[in-house]
Amino acid sequence: MKIAQFYENNRIRLGLVQSGNITPLDFEGDMVAFIGSDRVYNPQSSGTLALDQVKLAPPVTRPAKIIGIGLNYKDHAAEQNTPMPDEPRIFAKFPNTLTGPNDPITWDAAVTNQVDYEAELAVIIGKTIKNCPESEALGVVFGYTCANDVSARDIQFHHAQLVRGKSLDTFCPLGPWIVTGDEIPDPDALEIRCRLNGNLMQDGHTSLMIFSVPRLIAFLSRSFTLVPGDVILTGTPKGVGAFRNPPVYLKDGDKVSVEIEGLDRLVNTCRCHS
Ligand code: MG
Repeated sequence: MKIAQFYENNRIRLGLVQSGNITPLDFEGDMVAFIGSDRVYNPQSSGTLALDQVKLAPPVTRPAKIIGIGLNYKDHAAEQNTPMPDEPRIFAKFPNTLTGPNDPITWDAAVTNQVDYEAELAVIIGKTIKNCPESEALGVVFGYTCANDVSARDIQFHHAQLVRGKSLDTFCPLGPWIVTGDEIPDPDALEIRCRLNGNLMQDGHTSLMIFSVPRLIAFLSRSFTLVPGDVILTGTPKGVGAFRNPPVYLKDGDKVSVEIEGLDRLVNTCRCHS
C-alpha cells in the first residue's frame, strides 16, 4: 500500500494512493497516530481525488526522532578518502527539517552558501522496540520512502557536531508517500538516484550500504528505544556535490529529485533568500 498525508482545509488527512488518485482514510489523526494505532485501512466510500488536486504533506510530520546515518555507503566513504566506519555513525536531524513533496528547500544566504543534496532511503519504524534482534528487524518497519538529507556543508564541516548543518528548516524533504514494508521485501536491494535539474548526480544501490537496514535497526535499538513514526535516514551513495571537482552546490531555482526503486520520486525546488 501507498499511504500519504495531504492537507484538507489546513488539516492533515491520510489517504491511500492508487493509479494517480488518493482516497481519504476514515481515520482521525496523522501518520504517527495511525502507525501507533491498530492500523485499520478503512477507505472512505466517497471523496477520492486526483493526486494533482491535493497538496501533499511530508508523510510523517511529527516523528519523535529523525536519525541520520553518516558514511553508510562504501563508494561515498571512498569519494572522500575516509576509511569505512566499523560501526554506524549516528546524528540527529530535528523535525523542523521536514518538508513535503514539491515544497521548496529554503535557506538564507547569510547562513549558508554550500547547500548539498543527499539521496537516501528512509525507514519508518512501526513499533516500540528496544534491543531488537537483527533477524526480527524488518518486521518492525512500517514502511519506506524517499528522503533528501540536505546538508549545509560550510556549517557541517566547521563544527564537530553535525546537528546544525543538518537541521536548517526544510532540510529534510520526505515523500512522496510511505510504501508499506510488505511491498518492499528487501530494502537492501533497491536502485537509488538523485537528479539535479534532470542531470544524474547519484546513481547508487542500497546493496552498497555498509550497514544493512536490519543491522541499523538492531544497532540503534540497542542504544535507545525506537517508537512508531521514527525516521531513519540510511545514508547516501557517492556523487554528492561537495566531493565533486569542482564542487556543486544547490542554487536558487534548482530542481532536485530523489528516486528509489519501488518508492516513486520526491521532487523539490530550491529557494535561496538573501
Ligand atoms: Mg546523509
